[in-house]
Amino acid sequence: MTENILISGAGVTGLALAYWLDRAGFSITLVERAAEFRRGGQAVDIRGVALDVVQAMGLLDEARALRTQLKGMSMLDADGNEIQLSEERTFSAGRLDSEDIEIFRDDLCELLMRAMSDRVAFIPDDSIRTIDDNGDTVAVTFASGLNRKFDLLVGADGVYSNVRKLWFDDEAGCVFPLGVALALFSTPNLIALGDWQIGHRDADLGYVIYPNRDTSELRIGVGFAPDPTVSRSDTDAQRRLLATRCAHLKGEFPRFLDAMKTTDQFYFNELAQVRAPTWAKGRVVLAGDAAHCASPFSGQGTSLALVGAFVLAQELVHHQDQLARAFAAYEHRMRPYVNLNQALVDLSRKGPTPDDQMTEAKNGIDLSDLFERT
Ligand SMILES: Cc1cc2nc3c(=O)[nH]c(=O)nc-3n(C[C@H](O)[C@H](O)[C@H](O)COP(=O)(O)OP(=O)(O)OC[C@H]3O[C@@H](n4cnc5c(N)ncnc54)[C@H](O)[C@@H]3O)c2cc1C
Repeated sequence: MTENILISGAGVTGLALAYWLDRAGFSITLVERAAEFRRGGQAVDIRGVALDVVQAMGLLDEARALRTQLKGMSMLDADGNEIQLSEERTFSAGRLDSEDIEIFRDDLCELLMRAMSDRVAFIPDDSIRTIDDNGDTVAVTFASGLNRKFDLLVGADGVYSNVRKLWFDDEAGCVFPLGVALALFSTPNLIALGDWQIGHRDADLGYVIYPNRDTSELRIGVGFAPDPTVSRSDTDAQRRLLATRCAHLKGEFPRFLDAMKTTDQFYFNELAQVRAPTWAKGRVVLAGDAAHCASPFSGQGTSLALVGAFVLAQELVHHQDQLARAFAAYEHRMRPYVNLNQALVDLSRKGPTPDDQMTEAKNGIDLSDLFERT
């Protein structure tokens, strides 16, 4: 029987999945490692069929109202001088005349949280320590010492998924680094940037900068070659590495680096794609970035998360109490769509993703069951 479901991770995948499964009558517990909601995320995109998912959740108008509304972008040289301008697209959103929604990750997560019923039990500031699947139930112990049993466990805990590490034997064969480190940080809006994006690309790095929704802050993303000696948990070393890599940038950039040293909104990771050979084992299944991260270079991580959450929930409803069938149907539907979207990442390409390739990828799954009742 499948009634009681634990979801590890309250990102876009975990929150959307909790919404759909709760709506279908399952009893949902969400465990999230963070003690409180983290603001300061970057802009993410909802594209193609993912817009239909948001519509079916009744959130499309609200999501549209939260759009970033950037009007274009300027390309700068290393000295900070404008060398190119576009009013047709931005680095982060692509074409501005499309229906796609660019939205801040934190705004989207808040929207999903508001949409979730208060039946969903939320455990913040905790993480799974052990998983024991005895065939009938999954017994889980948490770092806090809590012990609980569930019918199903979903790992929606991101690229470096804890559930995947604990439960699937093939961790080393799942995560494929792309050879690029990405630093994301927020600063006050030091240059009074309005509805505009600025960016730069040279042989060593690329950056993109845009304001948050009320333009009080700048969101800055810088990609560059990683340094294998800098550990994933050493934030001071990551900040130093970023400052070193950006030392040749002039104009306003030194001011951003000064502000970076003290901001508490700093995120650093080596970009990777996740290609987990299997997404399910026993009563445990992976979803979102944990199963199939396409990386921010694809511009499709959030859409994959929203679509995957719906498809997994839908297949669990259709194959009540037949988990193996539900998981097989989930993978069967999702894999081709994931493959199309992971293939968008081509680090040798100089310009943006070709429009026809993006159109094919963002619509690459049949969701004609979306408006059936789940
Ligand atoms: C802080 C942050 C900033 C991001 N910024 C960008 C961005 O600027 N651009 C972009 O394209 N993508 C960004 N992403 C990734 C993007 O949001 C995802 O690709 C997409 O939304 C799929 O989300 P997901 O829910 O599968 O994974 P994630 O968004 O990674 O969410 C995973 C969730 O699981 C939680 N978690 C992790 N480990 C544990 C654990 N052991 N126990 C419980 N919970 C755990 C995390 O705190 C997080 O809330 C960001 C992700 C994070 C976490």
